[in-house]
Amino acid sequence: MESLNSCFRKIMSKSNQGEGPAIGIDLGTTYSCVAVWQNERVEIIVNDQGNRTTPSYVAFTPTQRLVGDAAMNQVACNPTNSVYDAKRLIGRRFSDPLVQNDINLWPFKVIKGPGDKPMIVVNYKGKEKRFAAKEISSMILKKMKEMAEAYLGTTVKNAVVTVPAYFNDSQYKATKDAGGIAGLNFLRIINEPTAAAIAYGIEKMAGNIGKRNVLIFDLGGGTTDVSLLTIENGVFKVKAVAGDTHLGGEDFANRMVKYFIEIFKRQHKVNISDNSKAIRRLRTACEKAKWLLSSAIETNIEVDSLYKDIDFFSTITRAKFEELNMDLFKKCIDIVEKCLTDAKMDKSCVHDVVVSGGSSRIPKVQQLLQDFFNGKELCKSINPDEAVAYGAAVQAAILTGTGNEKLQDIVLLDVTPLSLGISVRHTSDMFVLIPRNSSFPAKKERNVTTICDNQTSMRILVYEGERARNRDNIFLGEFVLHGIPPAPRGVANANVCFDIDANGILSVSAKETTTGSMRKITITKYKSRLSSEMINRRVKDAEMYKAKDDKHRKKVNAKAALENYAYKMRNIINDEKIGAKLDPASKKKIKDAIKLVIQWSGSFLHQLQDSELYEDKLKWLQSICKPISS
Ligand code: ADP
Ligand code: MG
Repeated sequence: MESLNSCFRKIMSKSNQGEGPAIGIDLGTTYSCVAVWQNERVEIIVNDQGNRTTPSYVAFTPTQRLVGDAAMNQVACNPTNSVYDAKRLIGRRFSDPLVQNDINLWPFKVIKGPGDKPMIVVNYKGKEKRFAAKEISSMILKKMKEMAEAYLGTTVKNAVVTVPAYFNDSQYKATKDAGGIAGLNFLRIINEPTAAAIAYGIEKMAGNIGKRNVLIFDLGGGTTDVSLLTIENGVFKVKAVAGDTHLGGEDFANRMVKYFIEIFKRQHKVNISDNSKAIRRLRTACEKAKWLLSSAIETNIEVDSLYKDIDFFSTITRAKFEELNMDLFKKCIDIVEKCLTDAKMDKSCVHDVVVSGGSSRIPKVQQLLQDFFNGKELCKSINPDEAVAYGAAVQAAILTGTGNEKLQDIVLLDVTPLSLGISVRHTSDMFVLIPRNSSFPAKKERNVTTICDNQTSMRILVYEGERARNRDNIFLGEFVLHGIPPAPRGVANANVCFDIDANGILSVSAKETTTGSMRKITITKYKSRLSSEMINRRVKDAEMYKAKDDKHRKKVNAKAALENYAYKMRNIINDEKIGAKLDPASKKKIKDAIKLVIQWSGSFLHQLQDSELYEDKLKWLQSICKPISS
């Protein structure tokens, strides 16, 4: 692993010579943060307002475009042209139910564009303009880049950027495009909780000997990400990840907005829920109240002329806020539990629990998390809003070779969210090569043999999923290996190899063992095709159908054992040297028995018999074949 890392460093440092420093960017749903490795440590870069995090907001006015604090500060008077939450839209389809749900809450307009792409509609300099989410994200990235350039006094091109653990292929690619539009070269895209863990590891590394299990709880504005990592000899290994792409501080604030809409209704007999300007202003007030409730036990809400000339004034206690959100907070803890279950780890084995993300400041959330870990002290030494950018900056330094010795031995490993495997027929079973939650880079091989006599080509179908039959799993791709020399069934062999690189790109190759004929396919970023909800559903399904699947697998294995034995015996008896040694009568008896078994087994092409039936037939055939099997 170290050699891989030093190899990266060498390559990157060569290719980046003269290109200036590399920065780490946490492109958040609600807030973004940028950091750089400088003077032997990570420095968080402040923006023009002196803030260490920058709102992920872009606003359009009759005269200009504003990004960050300037955009957020004018939101109340320009709600329909102030865009935020672009990360919730990036790489998604307009018809996605999550997008439809979000549109109802946003004051800005989103319409269906070509190819079902959501387009944000704003009025900019007096004209209607449409932007894709990645264009909005690119404006935020450009702002972060410019902040870094102003801070460092030099051009910045290279960056490591972070995305949520479960971003899918399309979201990942759209983020990459956003970087391109912003004029950035992404050295690598890493997941947010992993970045937070890197930040944490650095601090601990000096005095840390032995293996540690670390749970990262990242509760941001829009997402919850929980990861379980082990850190050993400077190597970070992601054991399991669990998350919810739609659970965070925004949801907590939305609950408060709903609460105050009801209060306003009761006080003034007016429903303001369709008045986007009023909602926006109420939301800004709720956001502030939410922050205050992390330190105060009660706070006021004041919005002048919230509706027409009605001033709104109310109060909310921390207890009320907690009550409004308790089910959501508990959901966050359920994700922690799920992550541990996936990693097959008892919570008592977790050495450190790290909190990250602005919403992890909420006292109730911290308390629930601490209670879950039976009172264990949480690690809060890393500023929750900055931990991700901190880790990204460390990773950038590693990749460019600008870090010091402390950084040299850090290697990142991710995990596969679902099992990966192959099948040789469209209607058959999936054979797992790389089990779910395996870390990568990873490489696994398996021999497959022909299923018919004189078969000269072999179809390899690649799947991901937890179910026994391929039809219940997700098809990823296929290819055909030609040039297999004609031979009886089960004689010719191909070696199938699964190789996942550090970036999660899966290559599947198959090589015929005698002639060396070879075919290969590459499945890009397979790891992020599914959302966390979809992965959870698939894992739950697999648990639900486990008994059924196990029974099915038993039958398949029994059938394969019987057929493999029968064909092996057939090949032996047809071998002239062996066949000649037998007297014709016993030779005929064996041949007939083999034929009978093959015919019997083949007669139930798509319907499996009970495993006992196959096992009985196998015992019977073994007794008859005794003279040749020895
Ligand atoms: P993201 O990366 O998803 O943008 P951040 O980690 O920057 O998220 O966290 C942003 C969220 O944290 C917002 O919802 C914000 O309201 C919330 N937040 C920030 N400070 C506090 C606080 N003091 N108390 C509660 N929530 C906070
Ligand atoms: Mg975040």
